[in-house]
Amino acid sequence: MIIAIDGPAGSGKSSTARAVARELGLLYLDTGAMYRAVALAFLRAGREATPQAAADLLPDLRIEVDHVDGQMHVRLDGEDVTQAIRQPEVGTMASRVSTLRAVREKLVAEQRRIGRSRPDGVILDGRDIGTVVFPDADLKIFMVADAAVRARRRLRDLQEQGVEAAFDEVLQEIEERDRQDRERALAPLRQADDALVVDTTDRAFEQQVQFVVQHARERTSRESVENCSPTDDVA
Ligand code: C5P
Repeated sequence: MIIAIDGPAGSGKSSTARAVARELGLLYLDTGAMYRAVALAFLRAGREATPQAAADLLPDLRIEVDHVDGQMHVRLDGEDVTQAIRQPEVGTMASRVSTLRAVREKLVAEQRRIGRSRPDGVILDGRDIGTVVFPDADLKIFMVADAAVRARRRLRDLQEQGVEAAFDEVLQEIEERDRQDRERALAPLRQADDALVVDTTDRAFEQQVQFVVQHARERTSRESVENCSPTDDVA
């Protein structure tokens, strides 16, 4: 089973996807973390997000993900950058590098490879999972929430990681990133026609997790009935 969760920054995709993965025994893939790792490589190389920089940097760039105790770790050329990619400037740069075709091609190919390699199923979150990466996903969710609520959540996450930031700054960064993600030419952030919309502004966290779990279970039982051949009949 493949579950796609898309939506703007801070809408609750990652925390929901992680909890659903745990409950259903799926692998969780945070695709934003992969764009952030590429962004970190650009920042460290002192390069702008240009096609030339992508052509120079990408061939030698190794982005790998692995899972330790259910937590996803991202490695950049062998170095664990899971914490380093959470800095706000890396998020802003991720939004820029994600407009580059070569970057998207490299990461989308890797996301599809990981998605198809797991027989138990995968839940991915990002901006283009239901529209581009897995347009045939079994379940598509589009998460939304008011910008101020999303900024407050982001601020709390940053504070938990010991990163100092001001609310206005975080709100501005989120709104700017959303605008760029929605307006870009390649794989813009948009709701897939067959996605279920979940507005997390006033929803309790556990409620949004159970919404996804219930729909995933319904799809799985429907699929197993549809795939049941006459010889499977025990009556
Ligand atoms: O999800 P997160 O906020 O960590 O993503 C960082 C940035 O990476 C997003 O703002 C977006 O520009 C880009 N991204 C993307 N496609 C994805 C996931 C993330 O373009 N599937």
